[in-house]
This record gives sequence, structure tokens and C-alpha cells, in this order.
Amino acid sequence: MFSVIVHYQEIALKGRNRPWFVERLVTNIRAATLGLGGIKVRALMGRIELHQVSDEDWSELHRRLSRLPGIANFSRAVRAPCDFDAITDIVLGELGGLKVSSFRVTARRADKRFPLTSPQIEKELGGRIRSARGWDVDLEQPELTVRVEILNDLAFCSLRKEPGVGGLPCGVSGRVACLLSGGIDSPVAAYRLIKRGCRVRLIHFHSYPILSHTSQDKVAEIAELLTQYQLETRLYAVAFGDIQRKVVLTVPPPLRVVIYRRLMLRIAERIARGSGSSALVTGEAVGQVASQTLDNMAVIDSVSTLPVLRPLVGMDKQEIVDEARRLGTYQVSIIPDEDCCTLFMPKHPATRARRTQVEAAESALLVEELVEEAAANAVCRDLRFPTTAIQPSTGGDVRLGATGSEGSI
Ligand code: ATP
Ligand code: MG
Repeated sequence: MFSVIVHYQEIALKGRNRPWFVERLVTNIRAATLGLGGIKVRALMGRIELHQVSDEDWSELHRRLSRLPGIANFSRAVRAPCDFDAITDIVLGELGGLKVSSFRVTARRADKRFPLTSPQIEKELGGRIRSARGWDVDLEQPELTVRVEILNDLAFCSLRKEPGVGGLPCGVSGRVACLLSGGIDSPVAAYRLIKRGCRVRLIHFHSYPILSHTSQDKVAEIAELLTQYQLETRLYAVAFGDIQRKVVLTVPPPLRVVIYRRLMLRIAERIARGSGSSALVTGEAVGQVASQTLDNMAVIDSVSTLPVLRPLVGMDKQEIVDEARRLGTYQVSIIPDEDCCTLFMPKHPATRARRTQVEAAESALLVEELVEEAAANAVCRDLRFPTTAIQPSTGGDVRLGATGSEGSI
């Protein structure tokens, strides 16, 4: 059995909110360790300790912690008494059969009552390791860094620091609702907000049964992947095919994409308000496709009274692809499917839609009714990590109903 020490960086800077942020991170870590035998989690003098971790749980725990926002880094560590000789023995024991050409010691002393200062610990312990193992000290680029952290009644020794994703613990920044298409971009946009501490609800518009179920299956899989980062996800599926048909019947081709987006945004806003979300999120980036121009974005946004966040707005496609690969969503996103927008997509969408023109075209539609009905018939499902796998599409789904609201995760 050993400990894992979790370090947070950014949340250490957040003044009076700090205890609340740390508490949230502790809660999230506890939730993430569910199902792993008897790990105890506690906040401890500027870091978080996971105690009683077993060797067999380590690789799964590593996988889970390396996805949890709010963690700057974490290390597998051994507890030691606050006594220099005991610390030395434990470190030498931990080094075991390890062979390296260079090393250094990095010490941090949270309790200043310890008789040696951090530089003295580094020098003394470094000297003892060098005489025991014959390794060179390299302060700049050591092959191995031995870390010692001294707290008030115990110390931790560790040999490897694992990177976390950084950001803020999920839940400290409120709720948002992300329009999730099943393409490459929107999962990355959702992740960006998850990483900033938001709980992100996902809203998918599909054209089933006009098109196959593929887009919903892809989105379910993407939602499951994103749940590994935020631990709880609410996913809404909105039937959009009939609305698109109506648009095709009345709206000239160049304006259709902007009008689809305006309708999506209105429906999403209705759902977001019913579920306590205070902003909408999309995966758009300026100029990425013909419809994603500043003019069009302005015309699209004007239907929403909630802020529309576009975390990818200034990114290149390749940067987004790289991030999607890191997240694990890329492989799902590239599975071919008939996007509800490609079905009814005009060859030449307007790049500079004018608001007056768009509003005139929309006046042929019963916008309020369509939006109301689509939001009321949205089907919502909750996912959790690590407790439950995704439910089959017939099980556990809840239709929103006329108010468009439901209980809260
Ligand atoms: P993505 O890779 O996210 O699909 P994209 O480059 O294909 O993005 P568009 O298809 O123009 O771009 O969509 C722009 C944004 O509109 C998406 O990032 C997403 O937020 C939203 N969106 C588009 N289609 C849907 C859909 N079927 N359901 C939910 N949101 C959608
Ligand atoms: Mg798309």
C-alpha cells in the first residue's frame, strides 16, 4: 500500500474561494476512485493525499487521475515519519534496483519546524544517495528526481511526477450547455469548458428516422468519453429532421445553414434555461467553413439571450484535431455518418447573411411553436463515470415535457 499526492496549482491562487475549490477537487477525486478498493482521500496542507492505494489499482487510478481537471500533477509516494534518518532509509529502500546516470533531490517543507531547511535536506539527502549508489548529481537535467515533502507530522517521498490536465475542478464554474454534433470540433469545445471547471450538458440534434441512428450512437460514445473528464454528463437528443424539412420548403438555399443554427440555438437555449445552464457552447472557429464567418455568427447569436461561447474560435483545424486525438474523441468523430446538416446542406451557404434577410425568410416558419415542441420532446439521459456504463437507448431516457426542465445532476 502506498499514497498518491495530488498537487493543484491554479486553484491555489483563488483567494477566499480556495477552501471551496479544494473541497470540490477532493469530492471529485473521491467520485473518481469509486470501485477502487478502500482509498482514503483528504486535503492536507496545500495538497491532497490518497491513502491506502494498492499496486493492483495503480494503473487504473493513474488513468483516472490523469483526466481529472484541477490536478496539476500527482505522484505515487511513500509515507515517512518526520525524521531525517528515517526519510533517508525509506528513500534508499525505494530506489531498490533502479539504475540511473544522474539524479537530484527536490525538497519542500510545509512545516518550518523541521530542523533542516529545504536546501539542507536536498544537499544532505543527495550526499547520502550519492555515496550509497554512486550516481552523479545533475541539478538541471537529472534522469531521476527524488522528491521529499515535509508536512507537520509526516513526510512523503516520491520518485516520479505524473502530469495532470490542469484547469479547475469540475463544478466550480457553473453549468453550460454545448451543442454537440458528433464531428471533431464540438467535443473539443465541450472539453475546454469542462477543463475550466464547468459542468457541461450536451445537446445533440439528429434527423432520425430520416437518417440512420449513427449520429446518436457517435454522440453517445463521445458523451461517454467526456464523462471520464467531468464524471457526470446529461445528454439531450433533439429530433431536428422535421424542422429541417420545413426550412427546406420555405427558405432559399444560401440562408438555410444560418437558419438551422438559429433554430438550434433557440432550442438549446430553452433546454439550457430549464436545466440551470448559464451559457451555450459551440465548436465553431472563424473561417473554418463557409458558414462560420463573423457576420454569420452575429446573426446566429442574435436569437440567444444567453452568451454563446466558442472556445475554439481562434484555433486552426490541425490544432483542434491534435486535441481531439489527445482526448480520445477523434476516432469516434471521424466515423462516417450523415450529419443532419449535410443532408439538407446547400452547395453555397451565405457567408454574409444579413439579419433582415434572415428574419424575413424565417417569418414563413412558426418558429416559436417549432422551438417549443422540439425542446419539450428532447430526450435526456444521464451518464456517470466510473459507476455506470451508458444505458441502452431505450432504457433510462427521460422526455423533457412542456416545461423543458428536469431534476438536476
Ligand atoms: P463539428 O466538428 O463540431 O461538427 P463543424 O466544423 O462540422 O463542427 P458545423 O457543422 O458548421 O461545424 O457546426 C458548427 C457547430 O454547430 C458545431 O461545432 C456544433 O457546436 C453545432 N452543431 C452543428 N451540428 C450540430 C448537431 N447536429 N447537433 C448539435 N450541435 C450541432
Ligand atoms: Mg459538424
